[in-house]
Amino acid sequence: MNLKEANHLEFVSNFDTFLFDCDGVIWQGNDLIPGVKQVLLELRKLNKQILFVSNNSTKSRKSYLKKFESLGIQASVDEVFGSAYCAAYYMKHQLAFPPNKQVYVVGMHGICDELESQGIKYCGSSDDNENIKDMAHIGDIKHESDVGAVLFGFDVDLNYKKLAKAFTYLQDRDCLFLATNSDLTYPAAGTIFPGTGALLAALSAPLERQPIVLGKPHQTMLDCIVDSKHLNRERTCMVGDRLDTDIAFGKLGKLKTLLVMTGVTNQETLNKTDTIPDYVIDSLGSLKLIN
Ligand code: PLP
Ligand code: CA
Repeated sequence: MNLKEANHLEFVSNFDTFLFDCDGVIWQGNDLIPGVKQVLLELRKLNKQILFVSNNSTKSRKSYLKKFESLGIQASVDEVFGSAYCAAYYMKHQLAFPPNKQVYVVGMHGICDELESQGIKYCGSSDDNENIKDMAHIGDIKHESDVGAVLFGFDVDLNYKKLAKAFTYLQDRDCLFLATNSDLTYPAAGTIFPGTGALLAALSAPLERQPIVLGKPHQTMLDCIVDSKHLNRERTCMVGDRLDTDIAFGKLGKLKTLLVMTGVTNQETLNKTDTIPDYVIDSLGSLKLIN
């Protein structure tokens, strides 16, 4: 249903909780989407629970808060579910990752900060940013003996050394394989670039092993959110700009879904998709909650 002509207050009354994707819904890159700040304030006045759900693993919940603050949006740490936090939460609460083991991280500081927040030991990440000079040095790469999992996320400093180490750890089938998200593309600057899923294929293809993926549309993330916030799925709406991650996530999880047209989806894509959202609106900022 297109919410253009609908009664927005009536729409909102169907829900207690709204899950918001961030990039393309709340902001576009570094710019706040017009009207969104006011809509979030109005939802809070109506006592709606607000949660922010992002696949971007490069940010910890604390760094998300800095971004919200810089855009003048009220938010608290317990309202933010980034894929880095969800991975750390899942490892601690669902997997009960053993304290005598550590995680090899391919990813950036957002992942490390969240593993620390959950008391999980890790190695790799920026410590392995310096690559080997050439393949004659491949045998010099040092491995830790107590790595029980590899956690893979987006890493602008991904290099051969990190891939080789993760690959070696994961040849042991007892070593867990996790990924923060699997988006094949990363929309930015008005176009698309290779996303975490594209980088991940460099491991999963030769290993013939698929990771447990946390981020949207995978339900591991929703299960973590429902578990920690005791959500009633029937009274929860997922708001997003991307069909194959956000809208698929909500639909698989039996939530209602609202697609906004301020991100990666245009009318042409929407006309062709099988992933049909329950509701569509031009922008979150055009939700009218005051008469
Ligand atoms: N992955 C990375 C590395 C990103 O920077 C972003 C967006 O900024 C995403 C994924 C997608 O995030 P979201 O789920 O908030 O759209
Ligand atoms: Ca998005």
